[in-house]
Amino acid sequence: MSEQADPTELDGTFEADGRVTLFGFDSTPARAWLRPRSKAWRVSGVIRIVAITVVVAPMVTVIPPHAPWLLGVLGGGTYLARRRWNWRFTLEALEGACPKCGATLQVSPGRLRDPHGLSCDSCHNDVELRVPAEALEAHGGTAE
Ligand SMILES: [Zn+2]
Repeated sequence: MSEQADPTELDGTFEADGRVTLFGFDSTPARAWLRPRSKAWRVSGVIRIVAITVVVAPMVTVIPPHAPWLLGVLGGGTYLARRRWNWRFTLEALEGACPKCGATLQVSPGRLRDPHGLSCDSCHNDVELRVPAEALEAHGGTAE
């Protein structure tokens, strides 16, 4: 049996109160566990993505029709590098209920967006998590 770390206990993770909204329904309170991402973490990710892009780009040009593959790899690399650079917080866990059906919302850890779109597993509506900017600024930034 593998020992999995509790996402709320990860290094630097903090709790922030937010709201879950769905158009036409009253918003519900939510508690988010967020992990600030350091500049070093973001820069190392960008360097790794650029390195992979630089290695893969010449390899795909040997496949006809050469140019579209090259543009695809360069475009994909640019997108991923930009995404990593703007990754300020990781949403590790969430405690909140769907505004429509009241079901508990599930999240898998990932980049916090503003607003952060979620799908309710119960009623399949797309709800949005909003974390106030003040809560993020206290920990060094804003969500992208
Ligand atoms: Zn629901």
